[in-house]
Amino acid sequence: MMPDDHNRSTIDLSIVIPVFNEAEGILDTLDVTMRVLQEISMSHEVIIVDDGSTDGTWESLEGVAYQDQRVKLIRLSRNFGKEAAILAGLEHCRGEGVVVMDGDLQYPPELIKEMVRLWKEEGYRVVHGVKESRQKESVSRGFFARMFYALMATLSGYDLRGGTDYKLLDRSVVKHYIELPEKVRFFRGLIPWLGFRNISVPFFPANRREGRSGWSLFSLVRLGVRAICSFSSIPMQVVTILGTFMFVASLVLGLQTLYMKLSGRAVAGFATVIILLLFIGSILMVSLGLIGQYLSMIYEEVKGRPSFVIDRTRNI
Ligand code: UDP
Ligand code: MG
Repeated sequence: MMPDDHNRSTIDLSIVIPVFNEAEGILDTLDVTMRVLQEISMSHEVIIVDDGSTDGTWESLEGVAYQDQRVKLIRLSRNFGKEAAILAGLEHCRGEGVVVMDGDLQYPPELIKEMVRLWKEEGYRVVHGVKESRQKESVSRGFFARMFYALMATLSGYDLRGGTDYKLLDRSVVKHYIELPEKVRFFRGLIPWLGFRNISVPFFPANRREGRSGWSLFSLVRLGVRAICSFSSIPMQVVTILGTFMFVASLVLGLQTLYMKLSGRAVAGFATVIILLLFIGSILMVSLGLIGQYLSMIYEEVKGRPSFVIDRTRNI
């Protein structure tokens, strides 16, 4: 045990599951997970964080928590997003090891056994669940996901391809994660950033059986932009590079135009003007948007609001 967490760690293993409107599937997930945990001879708890569900998820979970003390519930006061829900779970779990898992059975709970083995027997402090294939998804989603991972890898140097939020963390890693001061978090990127001895275990994600993905394409794109911006400031520098490039180009074009004018060969250059106008205009707008993105993230941090607000808990 680490010397500085003496008042925790009365439990070997915690499972943290963020859920948002998973009424149809969560009891199944819990069932399968509990069965897997039974096969591992370790004391355990399952912390389910209800991220402001509106479909009866909380009510059905309350019934289970009433009968089983190992099932612990946290209800956030509204939908704060998966990142906040994960953080809430990590802050309240007491395990020496913690597994973060989705509530829709897309990540096979059986993998927990292998994760625990790598952690306990081989001394890894972080075990990443890595997707061997992508689950069934729409073409546009697959396209944006691939684009995001490619951009993320080139701009920030973190290759997260296949990366998921399915991870086992040692208590020491959880402690550092909780203590990070950031409000806008990207779990999947921050854990590799923290470092520590880690290993990846591949798995094949299942397709969603119940309910539907709580993410719209728009919210995924937004998450992607935030993730990239919080791990790299290169996009902001790209603006400067583009601006310089445009300045040189406009100098050349300007000289050429002047020469044409002076030599009396000025042609009707509407096309050039319009193209330039559109080009510069769009670059300006994109650049402003980018700066706005960074500003909004700084603003978010400066306000210092908590990442989530808890409404009530069970068994905690
Ligand atoms: N989730 C959440 N808050 C949200 C959206 C999703 O806690 O605002 C949970 C959801 O219930 C699930 C996990 O995060 O347990 C992954 O979500 P989902 O399956 O919708 O994402 P995908 O698997 O499509 O990436
Ligand atoms: Mg899912």
